[in-house]
Amino acid sequence: MSFNAIVVEPTGDDEVAVSIEPLTDDQLPEGNVTVAVEYSTVNYKDGLCMRPKNGLVRHYPHVPGVDFAGTVETSSDPRYKPGDKVILTGWRVGETHWGGLSQKARVNADWLVPLPEGLCTKRAMAVGTAGLAAILAINALEDHGLKPGQGPVLVTGAAGGVGSIATATLSNLGYEVAAVTGRAEADNYLRSLGASQIVAREDIGSVTKRPLESETWAGCVDAVGGEMLARVLGQMKYGASVSAVGLAGGASLPASVIPFLLRGVNLLGIDSVMQPYENRVRAWQRIANDLPFDALDQMMHPATLADVPKLAADILKGQVRGRVVVDVN
Ligand code: NDP
Repeated sequence: MSFNAIVVEPTGDDEVAVSIEPLTDDQLPEGNVTVAVEYSTVNYKDGLCMRPKNGLVRHYPHVPGVDFAGTVETSSDPRYKPGDKVILTGWRVGETHWGGLSQKARVNADWLVPLPEGLCTKRAMAVGTAGLAAILAINALEDHGLKPGQGPVLVTGAAGGVGSIATATLSNLGYEVAAVTGRAEADNYLRSLGASQIVAREDIGSVTKRPLESETWAGCVDAVGGEMLARVLGQMKYGASVSAVGLAGGASLPASVIPFLLRGVNLLGIDSVMQPYENRVRAWQRIANDLPFDALDQMMHPATLADVPKLAADILKGQVRGRVVVDVN
């Protein structure tokens, strides 16, 4: 019995073809759990993996999809049995191992987490890797002392996946959220997620000569990096922390160390890919408890496998709003 998957194959030195192809079980990679995938997503990294010479995919043909949720079909690992609902994010699945933009995936049981109570597979993928990273970023800020009532928390790249989940969750937890966006038309959307202040990208998106500006932000979830992150560091309140999640605006950090030395600002690195099992379970439980589902449903854009090639290109241009949920069946 064959099933469908997105397959990426080089067609020349600087080109890849991204198409839906039939595959069979014996083509799946090694692993001790086979999952009937229900939903996957299109993350920024998926966009990269469907581009030529991306530095992430090593072998072709390749099945992308850095996350998925579905039902265990077969398992030789005692932790999972057929019928169990599971989520996978990270572990370089969709990069070095075939991923979730497929009706079936075979993976290592260590990479899975059980679907938490209160969450369905569709909403789990509306959250996906981007949302998990947003929650890990909020956990890190709180582990470093952030509490509601300390002042506005800045979210950069707010209309994107990481930013939307961070905005909705922080607001639901009682934080005042300032959302940075480059899209004027995203104003109503961001306010509906709970942002109380909208900051235009151009107001904060370039470095200044001043290493310190007014102490403005009590915390920051940063999906953008680059010059924006450098600028934000100089605007943090004394002792406040920034969770560095993404690089949508660039991987460089043209910053001064002055905010670290004179204001005790903390820069916290957030990695969702190799995150230990216990932290993942904690984060997914928090997602089930603290993420408002009405906001999540609002940021969800349904898609099918046929929509994936265009969405993969769009997300790299910053043209995808919220979270894409791909019904692979
Ligand atoms: P999205 O494309 O959905 O969102 C990124 C947002 O950043 C855009 O919507 C846009 O927001 C803003 N943006 C885009 N380009 C620029 C630019 N040149 N300058 C300033 N802002 C820009 O991506 P995701 O939210 O899925 O991912 C965001 C980042 O986080 C990516 O770099 C991704 O690789 C990373 N990531 C990291 C993870 C980790 O484990 N650390 C896990 C998941 C993602 P707006 O339109 O509102 O301005």
